[in-house]
Amino acid sequence: MNGSQSTIFGSPRYKALTAMNRGASAILIASFTNGIPGNEKHLVVQPDKKNSPSLAELGIPAVYVSNEIAEILLASVGITEPDKELGSMLLEGVRADFTVELKRENIVSSNVAGYIEGDSPEWVIIGAHYDHLGVESVFDDGSMLFYPGADDNASGTAGVLELARLFSESPDMPGRNIMFICFTAEEIGQIGSAYYVENPLVPLDKTSAMVNMDMIGRVVEVDGEPACTIQGENSASEWIEIIPERTPDNALRLLTQPNPIGGSDYIQFLNAGIPSINFFSSAHDDYHKPTDTPDKINFAGMVSVVEAVYEIGMNIADWPEMLTFSRPSRLSLIHI
Ligand SMILES: [Zn+2]
Repeated sequence: MNGSQSTIFGSPRYKALTAMNRGASAILIASFTNGIPGNEKHLVVQPDKKNSPSLAELGIPAVYVSNEIAEILLASVGITEPDKELGSMLLEGVRADFTVELKRENIVSSNVAGYIEGDSPEWVIIGAHYDHLGVESVFDDGSMLFYPGADDNASGTAGVLELARLFSESPDMPGRNIMFICFTAEEIGQIGSAYYVENPLVPLDKTSAMVNMDMIGRVVEVDGEPACTIQGENSASEWIEIIPERTPDNALRLLTQPNPIGGSDYIQFLNAGIPSINFFSSAHDDYHKPTDTPDKINFAGMVSVVEAVYEIGMNIADWPEMLTFSRPSRLSLIHI
């Protein structure tokens, strides 16, 4: 919450991912009060599937605790009236025992890749994840809830397809080969991209850079001007020269963030030592909800973003040398 509205930071899934990325071995979530049946009970596993579709799939045990339990935990370190400013702290000497029963299902899924030949044995990779949260049965009558994922990440997937078309129609052969790849299973822990860097289709030491698009469909104004954010600018010294200030059509500003933020497939490439950036248009209230629908997509903004990725991709392909990797300082916090 930001005081009045839900934000992505307030979602149980985001909290659990953050905890996991910081090395937690389990997570107890308290104060989750929007209509949870059974919140009065002490322990409830996944009580509200509508809002937390994937907690059970995160890879660490995650349970909800009642407010009563949360109060007991806080009281053990002397806090009796928690407020919004609580922040984070160590609950010294507190121990929690619980049992979670997980049913594992094996599902086969695939990354999908293609490439355009360049004039060297080296590679540039352009990618996006194509999975989302799917459908699930949440209602008593067995009817299904559908997560369209228009922004997350049909937008990025459409971007990869469009870029493959643009590069294939270019009259000039790029200086390096360009791979277009759509990753599977990003939403349950970047599994497709993790698999790729463990089983690369082309040598990692011949891969100059990876450009990712995760949510490029909600371009909005920042400081009075439409803008798109590029995360991970610190991952190579050349990005500052390669990334322009504006999109080629001059419609958007490109705002760079030095460190990688959040989690998406480009983190796997950064962990593998490959310079990687992520295009991200904006955070919004429809994140991971059934309301992430196509009518809310800013299509003109997406076109501008794709044009920028095209220009940047072509620059990396034609750059005299492979890009020079530098490990972003906060990368150690972000591994899944
Ligand atoms: Zn995504």
